[in-house]
Amino acid sequence: MPAMAQGHPDHGAAELHGVGVGRSIAVGRVLLMPEPPAEPAPGSHGGDAAAEKAAVADAVRAAAEQLAALAARADGPGRAVIEAAIQMAEDPMLADDVAARIDAGTTAERAVFEGFRSFQRQLADLGGDLAERATDLADVSRRVIAALRGVAVAGVPESDTAFILVADDLAPADTALLDLTKVLGLITRGGGPTSHTAILARARGIPAIVGIGADAVIAEGARVVLDAASGIVIVDPSDDQVADAENRIAVEAARAMARIAEGTLAEGALADGTRIPLLANLGSPAEAARAVELGAEGVGLLRTELLFLDAATAPTVAEQQRQYAEVLAHFAGKKVVVRALDAGADKPLRFLGHACEHGYLGAPGHEDNPALGQRGLRALRAHPGLLTDQLRALKNAHDETAATGNPAELWVMAPMVADAAETRYFVELARDIGLPTVGVMAEIPSLALVADQVLAIADFVSIGTNDLTQYALAADRTLGPLASYQDPWHPAVLRLIKLIGDAGAAAGKPVGICGEAAADPALAVVLVGLGATSLSMAPAALGDVRAELAAVTWERARVKAAAALAADSAAAARAAAAEA
Ligand code: PEP
Ligand code: MG
Repeated sequence: MPAMAQGHPDHGAAELHGVGVGRSIAVGRVLLMPEPPAEPAPGSHGGDAAAEKAAVADAVRAAAEQLAALAARADGPGRAVIEAAIQMAEDPMLADDVAARIDAGTTAERAVFEGFRSFQRQLADLGGDLAERATDLADVSRRVIAALRGVAVAGVPESDTAFILVADDLAPADTALLDLTKVLGLITRGGGPTSHTAILARARGIPAIVGIGADAVIAEGARVVLDAASGIVIVDPSDDQVADAENRIAVEAARAMARIAEGTLAEGALADGTRIPLLANLGSPAEAARAVELGAEGVGLLRTELLFLDAATAPTVAEQQRQYAEVLAHFAGKKVVVRALDAGADKPLRFLGHACEHGYLGAPGHEDNPALGQRGLRALRAHPGLLTDQLRALKNAHDETAATGNPAELWVMAPMVADAAETRYFVELARDIGLPTVGVMAEIPSLALVADQVLAIADFVSIGTNDLTQYALAADRTLGPLASYQDPWHPAVLRLIKLIGDAGAAAGKPVGICGEAAADPALAVVLVGLGATSLSMAPAALGDVRAELAAVTWERARVKAAAALAADSAAAARAAAAEA
């Protein structure tokens, strides 16, 4: 949990606890993210509302242009997130709100501040990923206000030497563009393990710890050890602690070099030769080439909604076909699992919001508990035309690449499926459209409890441990203060996974894992012991997971899984698996 710094009795070091992203470790001096510009004071303009509104329009344009320039330098999910921020900046409802405040006499700066803040609050109230968007909107608001003042926006500090960045939270544009030759690591006071900051840091391989707490104090220039594996930041470490961390960094680097020398591209397998295909989680075709370089044996999760975050209207079948075919082309002869749009309260798809004719940025109207609302397959069932278009586009993309003679093996799956009836709906629809291999994601605990029924219908199940954990523990995965609940090592989560693993083995059908849990090497072993037959993760994690699996037999993985299942907390499960 976010915590106060705890001093060590033997020297001046202090520890801060947060949630680690990845397993790397970094040592360096801290640079603090500059304070945001001061809040514009309440006040009235001189009476020329038209001039104030024109100034706002210019400033919004300038902010959108800055963001577009940043988006052009980012790739993958980073670009999609920045493009979504541009859409928010230009939202007509927001413009109307700011204009109304100016008409009521408020200055342009204050009207922007209040208008954006009111939208931020609406997003925060919606919860889930939409609440995360509030941070993005705050960044847009700062940019517009800076443009009105004619000053530059304070961004990530510049430095000639490498540093560890400490911030309250980072705007996606900042995270997506961090200079990897300078930023050794990232520490944020806010944010949960599935916040944009964390997802982008993971995708870019930046060691990070999020959620160290709003009150955590780290001085500019302080030396810190950032240990993502344990989620601990050591402030002012002793010489021994620094030496230990540097030693671990050297060992990690040597292992990475050895893996490259020995063939990073070896297939995922246990020490006894049991094959566990290691697949990539992708958000766009642009990420495919890098995933192949890192040895992905296929794609275990293509998050298709990330392709269309910035689309104002539903993508056409042809546009979707083009993007899907591009991904398939990178994986000739390999498996590519595509997830149908995971839209709804937590994934803002504007065109779905428009199709609903209610709600803002894709939210299906106001929902008090949006994570429990109309999302995933439920949202698609409310828009069957959208779903059939997507499935047709996938079928066309597959047929198009089949002409090459060595097409990717296309599997499709539905997100957020509750039970056998929903499974039947999706499987029948996809098969009618001509898609041969159809499965469902296990993200809702109910699906685990009826996994035998589901697997009697579906060809495979893929476990989304991010949502499965949030629903098993009833803790919003995006809330910093609840970050400690979002731990897939929790024995309750492991027991749900075992139910699905057992059902898969009984039915003789594959059970994949595509949540962040698969990227934790020690947990990957346990997941295999619980019955996972493939693992899909951010490509940067493939090497570590491959190495860890290669060191254990299937028997040992089973023993470790049994030890973790019997533990009574996530921490105890980790320790038990390590010792078993
Ligand atoms: C999951 O929930 O684990 C998952 C893979 O889906 P997402 O993170 O996109 O919700
Ligand atoms: Mg999910």
